[in-house]
Amino acid sequence: TCLLLDHMLSMNLFKITLNYRHQVLRIVPKNELQLALLKNQEEIVEFELDVWMGVTGVSYPVDVRVPPHTLESFKSYLDSHDLEYSTMIEDVQAVLDMEREQMKSAARLVQPRNTDSFDYANYHTLSEIYSFQDMLVAENPNLVSKIVIGQSYEGRPLNVLKFSTGGSNRPAIWIDTGIHSREWVTQASGLWFAKKIVTDYGKDSALTAILNNMDIFLEIATNPDGYYFTHTSNRMWRKTRKPNPGNSCYGVDPNRNWDAGFGLPGASSNPCSETYHGPSAHSESEVKSIVDFVKSHGNIKTFISIHSYSQMLLYPYGYTTTPVKDQAELHSLAEKAITDLASLYGTRYRYGSIINVIYEASGTTVDWTYEQGIKYSYTFELRDTGSYGFLLPAKQIIPTAEETWLALMALMDHTYKNPY
Ligand SMILES: [Zn+2]
Repeated sequence: TCLLLDHMLSMNLFKITLNYRHQVLRIVPKNELQLALLKNQEEIVEFELDVWMGVTGVSYPVDVRVPPHTLESFKSYLDSHDLEYSTMIEDVQAVLDMEREQMKSAARLVQPRNTDSFDYANYHTLSEIYSFQDMLVAENPNLVSKIVIGQSYEGRPLNVLKFSTGGSNRPAIWIDTGIHSREWVTQASGLWFAKKIVTDYGKDSALTAILNNMDIFLEIATNPDGYYFTHTSNRMWRKTRKPNPGNSCYGVDPNRNWDAGFGLPGASSNPCSETYHGPSAHSESEVKSIVDFVKSHGNIKTFISIHSYSQMLLYPYGYTTTPVKDQAELHSLAEKAITDLASLYGTRYRYGSIINVIYEASGTTVDWTYEQGIKYSYTFELRDTGSYGFLLPAKQIIPTAEETWLALMALMDHTYKNPY
């Protein structure tokens, strides 16, 4: 019966995702009372809301995806509490259809034979990411290698690209993308970063100096099961894909699963929530594999975890308002990084600690890495600020990656010049 139930649920999910007439609404709270209403988890469950951009403060927008069958009642609820809203995406399915058409376009039907002919201006499947990684390693054997740090719940390899010019256990920079699987512009940017590193080494003096002294580790598909699922079943999938015993909802939020304020406010104990922290800290192999890698390496100096969307550069903490002891340095470095980022296309970022700029969030990646002694721990939220949200058009991939690279260079260069 359990199998049958699972089957029915997955059929249902499939049907829902193929017939989205879901809308994304943007709500702007005008006062503390409205803020509190929007934070109410019961309403999120009752109206089956998928929070795209959570509550951060009065007059900052909140974006939620609303399924068709609760749309009218949710709008009445908003009206009854005098909450102002606008429609951010009229028809999610129409945007998904456009995205799919773009992916199918002629250019990408030709399998790239090398990373020069790879289509960086498009979104890619997991298998395309895996083959890209192998091509890059084969083309640059003296600079790039592939490390498998573990396996996902469904048995997929957790691949990390290592960029190194030699030495042993050099001080290192870690970058991950896609720990939330639906944030597609992050994995796409990760592919572009990988190519940028091999292209610029030996040409760009700043990157060359960094790589002559430090290693860079890049995990592009950090949540491969989730990413696969976004291509095959539900584009909006965020969490891991591990079943939760005794519950029909799948997955854990891998950015609430770390052993830093684990289980405190700022995460959910409900397995059906998009911010479910999981049964215990590091319960997800996608998280535990990074934990083990970071601990065994022991010399990581900068840790950057990349998300989308909302255009922010954040440092710890997320679970407490207590400032980190390096607050002043992290803050001014963030300001330098976002200034460099904005210099290319004028894209504006907010910056600061997670709890001050976004919201209370417990068990997050960079809170854990900071507490491990990795001073330069940062999280990005890439484009946009809510025109498309997670469904950023593919034509924005390269500009997003290019501008983000300038910020990454600022962080890496500072680490190189300020050894600790
Ligand atoms: Zn995210």
